[in-house]
Amino acid sequence: MKRRKFIKAGAMLSAGSALTVGCASGSDTDGAAAVQTRPRVSWRLVSTFPRSLDTIFGAAETLSNRVSELTDGRFTIRVFPAGEMVPFDQVLESVQKGTVEMGHAASYYFTGLNPALAFDCTVPFGMSARQYNAWFYYGEGRDLLRSLFADFNIVNFPGGNTGVQMGGWFRRQISTVSDLGGLTMRIPGMGGRVMDRLGVTAQVLAGGDIYPALERGVIDATEWSGPYDDEKLGFYKVAPYYYYPGWWEPGPNLSFYINADKWGSLPSDYQAALAAAAAEANVDMMADYDAKNPPALERLLGNGVELRPFSQEIMQAAFTASNELLQEEAAADPAYRAMLESYDRFKSSSNRWLGTSELSFTDFAYEREA
Ligand code: CA
Repeated sequence: MKRRKFIKAGAMLSAGSALTVGCASGSDTDGAAAVQTRPRVSWRLVSTFPRSLDTIFGAAETLSNRVSELTDGRFTIRVFPAGEMVPFDQVLESVQKGTVEMGHAASYYFTGLNPALAFDCTVPFGMSARQYNAWFYYGEGRDLLRSLFADFNIVNFPGGNTGVQMGGWFRRQISTVSDLGGLTMRIPGMGGRVMDRLGVTAQVLAGGDIYPALERGVIDATEWSGPYDDEKLGFYKVAPYYYYPGWWEPGPNLSFYINADKWGSLPSDYQAALAAAAAEANVDMMADYDAKNPPALERLLGNGVELRPFSQEIMQAAFTASNELLQEEAAADPAYRAMLESYDRFKSSSNRWLGTSELSFTDFAYEREA
């Protein structure tokens, strides 16, 4: 067994060496020599998130650090928070044009460019984080989404997930659909469009701009993410009612965008390092949130936050409006329909399985302190 492993390792080293121009091969020192002669590559990545959100912004830094470590510091990626190089809503376009090599983004910010981009992030009553990963890595998700992003000259990788989000912060109690009427709420993507149908005026504001707008009364309510991020942004100080669940974001996936020409110019071992780093960042963000959200929720409750579930009336109205919206989009675009059908097929099958295994277990085992 040991000899087989040794031979295999040697074969892999030879293959790696073949990528390196001018590198001699055949002795034990070749590995070090190969690393020494790898090209220096310096990239820039723009995030749609502010630096203060260490968990979500931090995924790009996780990727950057790991790529550097895996390439002995030869391939570096400098990470810029939203607004430093480009505004958050121009991240996709910047990567598409090659102004920067990479982006880290929630694709639902860009549904104005193509509504189907929502499926790369999340849709109302859509997949959980686990389900999205299964669809992307082992279902039809990767091929469908890569085909969609090819139109933007971008290669995409999953790059983190928040898990099921919270429903957001309201100044007063919201019990019925009519209570939503006339509210102005910061809520992006399809969630905002569904809220519009329930009588809300939806707005999209970048993370750093929300608190001042809520404090000044420019908006009446806002959603962001979950307890850890929401606590940092301070919403509880001006809007004490904290609703759940965030039915519009049951498992929002964040994506790394790579300019396709720049991706194609990378040596294959750098491509492998980047793909591995993206996968690690994807797992790492979810784990980080799952560790940080529980104590953050405890702290918020200790600060007098009023935790409330959305009523069944609101949930059902939102569910109906969401399905209508999805079907309307599908009727307008065959590619969107193909994406929706794959997404729904996978989700339905997964819901039956997870509804059997996970849900029956968690229904019994989870303590319900709320
Ligand atoms: Ca959100």
